[in-house]
Amino acid sequence: MQLSLRCLTDLFLILILLFILPLNSNAQNIADLLKSENFTEGFRPYLRIGIYVGVDSALIEGDAEVFDKTGKVVAKIQGRYTLSVKNGKIAISNQLTNGDMIKFKSKFGLIKVGKRMFRGDIEVWLRNGKLVLVNDLNIEDYVRGVINKEVIPSWHIETKKAQAVLARTFAVHQKMFNPRDKLFDLAPTVLDQVYDGLNQEDVTANQAVDSTRGEVITIGHNAVKIYFHSTCGGRTGSSQEVWKMRNDHLQAVDCPYCSNSRLYRWKRVLKSSFLTERFKAAGAKVGNVNNISTKRGATRVDSVIVNGQSFPVNRFREIVGFSTIWSNDFTVKKQGSNFVFEGKGAGHGVGACQWGMEGMARKNRNYRQILMHYLTGVEIRKMY
Ligand SMILES: [Zn+2]
Repeated sequence: MQLSLRCLTDLFLILILLFILPLNSNAQNIADLLKSENFTEGFRPYLRIGIYVGVDSALIEGDAEVFDKTGKVVAKIQGRYTLSVKNGKIAISNQLTNGDMIKFKSKFGLIKVGKRMFRGDIEVWLRNGKLVLVNDLNIEDYVRGVINKEVIPSWHIETKKAQAVLARTFAVHQKMFNPRDKLFDLAPTVLDQVYDGLNQEDVTANQAVDSTRGEVITIGHNAVKIYFHSTCGGRTGSSQEVWKMRNDHLQAVDCPYCSNSRLYRWKRVLKSSFLTERFKAAGAKVGNVNNISTKRGATRVDSVIVNGQSFPVNRFREIVGFSTIWSNDFTVKKQGSNFVFEGKGAGHGVGACQWGMEGMARKNRNYRQILMHYLTGVEIRKMY
């Protein structure tokens, strides 16, 4: 009976394949189709963040059990301890441990490292005689930790939901396609998203995270690479234009929504001597700055010509100051010994415009409509 059932199942599979194959001559397409059905299979919604990398010591505080790599309890802590390297081993204050990793699992789910409180587990690795501390935590807890750094408390709940989905998608994409290190997926710096443990959480942002749990922006079955910026100034820029990098979902779109940003329009009057000083400090030999012009792309400045020398706009902003020249969309004219910069928006202008998201939310758009407006051809899928 069992045998014949299996034969029937096999026959059924063959029949299905016979039907599918002529439609999809490319076997890869079938694999993709099957994969997209199993979108969530095997995905562990946890994220590893390097909180201290290559340090000699760190303080850890809490009520926790300490495990070795095999899952055996090797110590318990209650209170405050110094982690360090002694005789080539990881030491918890004076107690030496074996192996290249120990893991702290808190009784109450919270543990303090240095001055910051963390959810999840803390792993301590020994690498080249130094310590690497990794926070292993649920992605939802991570999103709670970063979202408040990215939104203004008074913003609309739909804006916060959109930002939560962006933050989650960023994390999932990094974990899947671009981990920072063998030991962790993300670094807690502005390079990734600013993550400051538990100290940053607040109530309405947490609601935004909970109500979008597991939702990720995808094309097909892949989480997309996410970019956002403060204010686009009226139209976003494509990643092709701004970074010479083609991403189908990062196209230029109109944004008549961000005019409440204080940097929707800005003006800076900079002395020629100030600019001369900045270029000198950056080691860019242009001499006394007496001539500046710009070369524009489709929506923004592409390069800035200073005394006949061309600088990519991002390098120009870096030299003069990212919060002096707020964006890559500006004009410049000379007035006596000053240069007058008049600009639109703040940030690189690619992807979602945060003040625009808030403007859309205030016009009763929900977070899905908001995200679909800024990101072309994407879906929002529940990953877990
Ligand atoms: Zn905008």
